[in-house]
Amino acid sequence: MRPGCPGHENTRKAGRQPQRSGRLDVSGTRLVAFNHLDYALSMDSLIDPFGRRIDYVRLSVTDRCDLRCEYCMPKGFSNFEEPEHWLSFAEIERVIGAFGRLGVSRVRLTGGEPLVRKGLARLAASLCALPGIDDLSLSTNATRLDKQAEALNSAGISRINVSLDTLRHERFKAITQGKLDKVLNGLMAAKQAGFKPIKINMVVMRGVNDDEVEDMVRFCLEHDFTLRFIETMPMGDTGRSATSRYMDLQTVRARLEQQFELIPGVMPGGGPARYVQVAGTELRIGFITPISRHFCATCNRVRLAVDGTLYLCLGQEDKLELRPLLRQGISDAELEQALIAAIAIKPERHQFTEKPEQVVRLMSLTGG
Ligand code: SAM
Ligand code: SF4
Repeated sequence: MRPGCPGHENTRKAGRQPQRSGRLDVSGTRLVAFNHLDYALSMDSLIDPFGRRIDYVRLSVTDRCDLRCEYCMPKGFSNFEEPEHWLSFAEIERVIGAFGRLGVSRVRLTGGEPLVRKGLARLAASLCALPGIDDLSLSTNATRLDKQAEALNSAGISRINVSLDTLRHERFKAITQGKLDKVLNGLMAAKQAGFKPIKINMVVMRGVNDDEVEDMVRFCLEHDFTLRFIETMPMGDTGRSATSRYMDLQTVRARLEQQFELIPGVMPGGGPARYVQVAGTELRIGFITPISRHFCATCNRVRLAVDGTLYLCLGQEDKLELRPLLRQGISDAELEQALIAAIAIKPERHQFTEKPEQVVRLMSLTGG
């Protein structure tokens, strides 16, 4: 049933379909200027106009990074957000606290590279303590994990995702401009610290690293990691140019099936990956296919950038700028209404295939 139909869960709750008047821009205005305020006032939780419940926030704590992955951040890039525009830890806690009161239970720390932001373990501990937040996870490139793994684990982060596109030193350097050893050391420190699961995220690119998918399966088997393959997405100029190396993961799966027996349908859940298990092992392999089989119908997340911009969709520019509201002294109740109103403009889906030119921001701004 479509939203807006009589009887649709969301239409019933909201009373009527919210008017979608394009991008919501409330910079410099008070909340009463929202033309979505009626929607906000009629809802008490985060359900978007398509009936999707939002219970997951991806929190980008920095747009900076110590690597320059070719599909993400341009070589030599330094046009970063000014520190005075970063949400402070206290501001982040306020926003995540409001999300927690509205039913969000899961938060992922991401970036840029989250471990370059000083005091991350302190932030993690305070977010874990917020009412409603019962799952705090981390996406990292692992270059600094050897020094921070223990502290982050003790702070309450139990699950981590680590980007790793290749196991070959020269190739790692070519893709990321960094050193593979640092990542491997970080991964081993994470294992020691007790993170479980540790998921390896590999962006598969034709002619770049697609010859390593079987090696990566063996590596993850050896270390008891979960493996996820990701299709390149046209985010920013770097992402768009990487799509010339795009590989449909259905092809990768078919290739793996020639060497491994893959049992489908394991690990159902809210996430975007479709999982299989390698028979006779504990290894799970996820396929994240935003291009070949998008998963927007079950999208349960929004993204908060380091400057306080709340992005409603990875592949669209619809957003709400929270920083001006926070710094104008918005109350907690108004903040909650602002979040609900923002959910009213969450787009139905990305258009990576139809309009690959449309997302100008880099993936590093919102953290994937
Ligand atoms: N720096 C951390 C890391 O690399 O895991 C967190 C941020 S990074 C932007 C999050 C994820 O986005 C990584 O798994 C990365 O491989 C993925 N990513 C970045 N640009 C991408 C693109 N154009 N297409 C597909 N995935 C991309
Ligand atoms: Fe940095 Fe992660 Fe982007 Fe690579 S994918 S440049 S590690 S933010």
